Amino acid sequence: MSPSKPSATPTSIHQRSPRELAITWADGVESVFDVRALRLACGCASCVDEWTGDERIDADSVPEDVRPVSIESVGRYAIQIHWSDDHSTGIYPFERLRELGTPAAPAKPGD
Ligand SMILES: [Zn+2]
Repeated sequence: MSPSKPSATPTSIHQRSPRELAITWADGVESVFDVRALRLACGCASCVDEWTGDERIDADSVPEDVRPVSIESVGRYAIQIHWSDDHSTGIYPFERLRELGTPAAPAKPGD
């Protein structure tokens, strides 16, 4: 495994708005995340069945206004987000975040 690719190394993580988390990567790209979508993308054992990979998370149980309460780094490869709905077991590897995030470029019309 190659350690810390620039494209998966955050230089800053911040809340852009109540609905958006932004990560700036070492290669200069900024990714923006809808915080609720990020909550729903949680890959922990209580949200995703470890054996089948099926999603166990019930989207209806996640508040519309869910937001990160705190964000901690996990080693050099991931962050752990403590959510306002009291869920804090999810770990988000940077590589996955890089894939999940949408570049903070101007939105495409009619998308
Ligand atoms: Zn989870």
